[in-house]
Amino acid sequence: MPTDFNELTQRLPHLVETCRAYATQGRVATYIPELAHAPQLALGITLRHKSGLTATAGDCGIPFTLQSISKVITLLLALMDRGEQAVFEKVGMEPTGDVFNSMLKLELVQPGKPFNPLINAGAIVVSSLIDGDTAEHKAERVLRFVRDLAGDDSPSFNESVFRSEEATAYRNRSLAYFLKDNKVLDQDVEPTLHVYFKQCAIEVTCAHVARIGLILANDGVDPSTGRQLVPKRYVRIAKSFMVTCGMYNASGEFAIQVGIPAKSGVAGGILALVPGELGIGIIGPALNDKGNSTAGVHLLRLLSEQFDWSMF
Ligand code: GLU
Repeated sequence: MPTDFNELTQRLPHLVETCRAYATQGRVATYIPELAHAPQLALGITLRHKSGLTATAGDCGIPFTLQSISKVITLLLALMDRGEQAVFEKVGMEPTGDVFNSMLKLELVQPGKPFNPLINAGAIVVSSLIDGDTAEHKAERVLRFVRDLAGDDSPSFNESVFRSEEATAYRNRSLAYFLKDNKVLDQDVEPTLHVYFKQCAIEVTCAHVARIGLILANDGVDPSTGRQLVPKRYVRIAKSFMVTCGMYNASGEFAIQVGIPAKSGVAGGILALVPGELGIGIIGPALNDKGNSTAGVHLLRLLSEQFDWSMF
């Protein structure tokens, strides 16, 4: 049954206030020092329906950085730049069940080749596949693409978050050197990481993320203009990864409890969508022990139950 968007708009403020309580159980990410300043109890959501209707509630206006949500966007861009074969020569299609920045399976199972593009190792390889003459040019192209998908030129790089991650990314550097050593990464490590840290530091609000979700929900077509922004086949690939790997090593549980494609980031953002219907952007900086927005996941669970969103 299609979602009754008017009903949803009415119920939304109450649902957000109910779920905000869960934020006290989570913790804001601190391993990127600049992220530690995020408001722990914030919770906001924007939903954009393909009819043009928008619903918002809570702290949906607060800016946050995409972090891992950017991995979906660079995957789409790399597929558009290089094609499917070139991308999947370098990165696999399987979930890992490990934490997002794990080194474990890189060495154990399939030397060098990351399991999927939504873990850090895979995303770093994908960043290296973005077309561009310099690292800065590649990062600018990612930003341009985010703005196109968001339908708005206001997303930009948060330089403090970028510098904060660049100065402390010991784990990501070690992953990248390991990939380089295994010849999975053809480009140099530092310029590749520059692109990766920059894409993670793109600052948005829930409205932008909801619009990106709407484009994915609508098979790559902007419903307001009819323009195909991303080929349908690549959107299908991205949505499949969101279902199997988008919520870190809680993706299986999320598929059971919520049942829609979603991707979270360590700043507390979630990009989600109801296929064929609407896009969703959430911010809730307090994370649960799997690294997902604790209040945000509860909110999606309630919405999915009440509006029967599960694809399964
Ligand atoms: N920039 C973050 C990192 O690489 C992104 C991780 C995430 O959001 O999961 O550690």
